[in-house]
Amino acid sequence: MTNRSGLKVGGSGQLPTTQNPQPRTPIRRLVVKVGSSVLTDARGRLLRERIEALADQLAACVRQGCHPILVSSGAIACGMAKLGLRKRPAALAQLQACAAIGQSELMHVYTLAFARSDVTVAQVLLTQEDLAGRQRLRNAKQTLLTLLHRRVVPVVNENDTVAVEEITFGDNDRLAALVCAAVEAQLLVILSDVDGLLREGRVVKRVESLRQAQRLIIAGASRQRTRGGMASKLEAARIVGHSGIPLVIANGARPNVLGGLLAGRSVGTLFVPRQKC
Ligand code: GLU
Repeated sequence: MTNRSGLKVGGSGQLPTTQNPQPRTPIRRLVVKVGSSVLTDARGRLLRERIEALADQLAACVRQGCHPILVSSGAIACGMAKLGLRKRPAALAQLQACAAIGQSELMHVYTLAFARSDVTVAQVLLTQEDLAGRQRLRNAKQTLLTLLHRRVVPVVNENDTVAVEEITFGDNDRLAALVCAAVEAQLLVILSDVDGLLREGRVVKRVESLRQAQRLIIAGASRQRTRGGMASKLEAARIVGHSGIPLVIANGARPNVLGGLLAGRSVGTLFVPRQKC
């Protein structure tokens, strides 16, 4: 199954690069990152139907022989809602406490959502530091690959109790990129509350260089509960780009966005890596 971006689920082939922009890309392993703004309402409550829809799309991927890893934010927003907080706390310890409260609820909802398709999920809490040191990186990679081999969907989040990188900047965009590079996935998809990179209100379908991306006007409402924005997405594109991995930014609120992308529709903005390493 190949789409207009040159992406394909399963099979064999080459990744798109700026030199070879339209090869048939085999997507056997992909990382899907979903932001808090996609998963929660304005009061931070988890949007169960949307989470079920996401689980259904990822379960469909598994059925097609693809191995997805989900990197999910939403713990802090969910924890805030549990504590009745309307405004994101400024103190890091408060945010970390919210994450600890929200993470278990988040996993509970994912577990139920995936169980509807008979798919098991596993919680994996990581820090960027874990993916920098050789031994920990190897441990994390082996665990993730073992889970994928067993057709389990790992649900990754930052270990917010001990790390604050993604709380202060990133909303897990960088973490998702590091995970993607670590497991040598063929694609990173970032599901956000914007349709992609915008130029004069229209989605830019394809970005060939980060310099080009930096020049583009970035759409996106100001967020109270989440961090991230386009800066961390460009950073994610840079990280995976070094490993020759393409990145797609798409709107996670749109129905079947992931299914559409992997089934051949042109969705969001595709960042094409310069070359396959
Ligand atoms: N790890 C955080 C979470 O799951 C990232 C998002 C944020 O900073 O709000 O909520």
